Amino acid sequence: MRLDCAIIGGGPAGLNAALVLGRSRRDVILFDHNKPRNAVTHESHGFITRDGIPPRDFRRLAHEDIAKYPSVTIKPDKVTEVESKGEGFQLTTGNGVMYQARTIILAAGLKEALPAVPGIHDYYGKSLFSCPYCDGWELRDKPLVVISEGSNIFHLVKIVYNWSKDMLVCTNGANSLSVEQIGQLRQKGIQINLHRIKALHGENGQLSRIVFANNAAVKRAGGFITPSWDQAVPFGEALGCAMTQAGGFITDDYGRTSVRGVYAAGDSSIIAPAQLIIAAGEGSKAAIGVNTDLTVQDFG
Ligand SMILES: Cc1cc2nc3c(=O)[nH]c(=O)nc-3n(C[C@H](O)[C@H](O)[C@H](O)COP(=O)(O)OP(=O)(O)OC[C@H]3O[C@@H](n4cnc5c(N)ncnc54)[C@H](O)[C@@H]3O)c2cc1C
Repeated sequence: MRLDCAIIGGGPAGLNAALVLGRSRRDVILFDHNKPRNAVTHESHGFITRDGIPPRDFRRLAHEDIAKYPSVTIKPDKVTEVESKGEGFQLTTGNGVMYQARTIILAAGLKEALPAVPGIHDYYGKSLFSCPYCDGWELRDKPLVVISEGSNIFHLVKIVYNWSKDMLVCTNGANSLSVEQIGQLRQKGIQINLHRIKALHGENGQLSRIVFANNAAVKRAGGFITPSWDQAVPFGEALGCAMTQAGGFITDDYGRTSVRGVYAAGDSSIIAPAQLIIAAGEGSKAAIGVNTDLTVQDFG
């Protein structure tokens, strides 16, 4: 059977796309190997009616919603290959099964690499986060750290200052702050440490102390870091989709990429701001794009 749409990725973007396409009576398979970017977190914030929801509960509720629509199947498989074939696409999964689809929605999100700090993974998603809008409220007025090796560190510090004035900025040995920026931060009473971080200390993911290469140690209760990231899957670029300078897919208001039949939604196209509710909204837009285009095409 040729599907109306194959959705790659079952985070909020792909799930909402599946919901809207199911309600549009479209034959859809959503492929998802359940490794979302926010898997490390215990709670997700900022989604109205779902503030504080554990990511696994969000997913369970979404699957329950989608189960009402019989033309949608969720397959817990990894897509390993996507090829343009005739008027549509051929997808291959990790177990070698092939599927044909008239359209695809790329909703596989991003993969992240954290700053090179020993033990940082133990704290990421528990007391160190990447997005103040997601987790700033829980860390408000606490002694915080901002760790970043990149040039956007100064901007991040300004934003985090909204939630706590007690801040330590760490470049982890990188030369990412100008003399002028250092002066501005000091004027605000923000501490700065330019040395490499030797170790993070704490329990159960709750940060308590940072030790630097020069053996200085500072107490901190949590903070923010800037990961670097890349597209989780190479399919869009391989199919020739045009990209933004930030590395996301260029899409129109209906999720259409520059390649006919290929739509994109969620973190993989917007990059920032990365939020569940924005990704879900993007999924809805792409689904409406898919259904509109197929309906107009078939109407003749
Ligand atoms: C630590 C952390 C905390 C966050 N906290 C919040 C918060 O509190 N509130 C908020 O609004 N946002 C939060 N975010 C951001 C939010 O998680 C993302 O914006 C959102 O998940 C993006 O949704 P998405 O559907 O685009 O991608 P994802 O949620 O990343 O989902 C992509 C899915 O695609 C699947 N996939 C990837 N490749 C393949 C493949 N080849 N085949 C099949 N499936 C594949 C993955 O397994 C995954 O399930 C947080 C992010 C992080 C990293």
